[in-house]
Amino acid sequence: MGATAIVTRFAPSPTGHLHLGHVHSAAFAWRRAREAGGRFMLRIEDIDPTRCRPEFTEAILEDLTWLGLSWDGPVRVQSEHLSDYRVVLDALSARGLLYPCFCTRADIAREIAASASAPHGPDGPLYPGTCRLLSPAERAARIARGEPHALRLDMAAALATVPTRLCYCEEGFGRLCCHPAQFGDVVLARKDVPASYHLCVTHDDALQGVTLVTRGEDLKPATDLHRLLQALMGWPEPRYAHHGLLVDASGKRLAKRDRAATIRALRESGVSAEEVLRMAEGAGPMRSD
Ligand code: GLU
Repeated sequence: MGATAIVTRFAPSPTGHLHLGHVHSAAFAWRRAREAGGRFMLRIEDIDPTRCRPEFTEAILEDLTWLGLSWDGPVRVQSEHLSDYRVVLDALSARGLLYPCFCTRADIAREIAASASAPHGPDGPLYPGTCRLLSPAERAARIARGEPHALRLDMAAALATVPTRLCYCEEGFGRLCCHPAQFGDVVLARKDVPASYHLCVTHDDALQGVTLVTRGEDLKPATDLHRLLQALMGWPEPRYAHHGLLVDASGKRLAKRDRAATIRALRESGVSAEEVLRMAEGAGPMRSD
């Protein structure tokens, strides 16, 4: 493998069984790597203990093996690397780019309801910035009292430290400009989850040497924020290929609750691995793109 060989990945969250939509995504990444003699990495994004379950991780590995979607190197299981994400949070904190946020959901909702304008970003209404205004002494006192807090990125401070024009290369579209400010002071560590998806995904793509990020187009807006985190941390910029999502016969996106479309259910009903791949990769009627 040359230094510039393609490295792709599949990064499921073990919140349920794999369904055809996941296989569409996994096979897309797997083929791109295999066709180019590159590497295909597997990552389990189980950072959220409130939603992820170890038995689903086991099932994902088993389903991918049954499908023949072999991966290279060790599986990266995010929950086993919490200290890596802590290092990133500490580095951003040391640069004054994070602040503790003690607000509850209700506090934020109240604050937004009371304000004249409530700007929205890709993840919902933007945080009104209440805790950004706390004095260092008050922050320290509340932390010392053990008050639960999230860590938020100070978006304005972060943007001031990176090039004004952040872009990325989307296959088939060329270079696209990013607008990370639309996320506002985004949470990078929740009260109950030690690091956010955005932080872990960008850290791990860099760590695993991913050169082409392939994933569903529902995650495309998040790329603007991911480019900002990459620029802040000096991580390399991968290329991106966001693919269409599979839909069911009524045009609705496949979800984990659609048991009929899980790989398990298909396998139990006697469908072969080749047929599942054909269905997932678009030869069947379920492809939306
Ligand atoms: N873990 C995410 C999911 O299952 C995918 C993350 C990504 O591909 O960037 O939706």
